[in-house]
Amino acid sequence: MGAPGSVAASSCIFCAIAQKKAPAYIVYEDEDTLAFLDIAPLSRGHTLVIPKAHVDRITDLPPARYASVLATVTEICRRMERLSRDYNIGVNQGPLAGQIVFHLHFHVIPRYAHQVGGFPRERLPLAPEEARALLRELGPG
Ligand code: 5GP
Ligand code: ZN
Repeated sequence: MGAPGSVAASSCIFCAIAQKKAPAYIVYEDEDTLAFLDIAPLSRGHTLVIPKAHVDRITDLPPARYASVLATVTEICRRMERLSRDYNIGVNQGPLAGQIVFHLHFHVIPRYAHQVGGFPRERLPLAPEEARALLRELGPG
């Protein structure tokens, strides 16, 4: 049995996405990392960046992966600037911090003038046509 909040890689939804066993709208992929649209975005374009190999805590990320993960976060930020030059980058680590998926992921959340007061309380599911439009807007360019 793992630590509270931990999950075996075999039942991890983000591992399933990384292994293409579960669907996702993939914005970017390389050997070590994947970036895909959040299923319930906090704002338009909300994207998650993960290392493909399962690790929950950032402190368990092998140092050999630091560069690839940061490079992908930065690539997503670069593309996100097509939508907004303002964005939050964040990691929720542990249940008390709001983590609900226990596979390390970096949120990249664009901020817009109309949302300056904060994020919406109600998170709507990402609509397929909106996801397809975002994939075009956030593509390699
Ligand atoms: P956390 O609270 O763990 O930092 O964030 C997990 C994020 O993953 C949430 O924003 C949630 O909407 C997103 N999420 C949860 N399950 C899935 C899924 O199956 N697919 C995608 N694309 N995003 C998910
Ligand atoms: Zn995983």
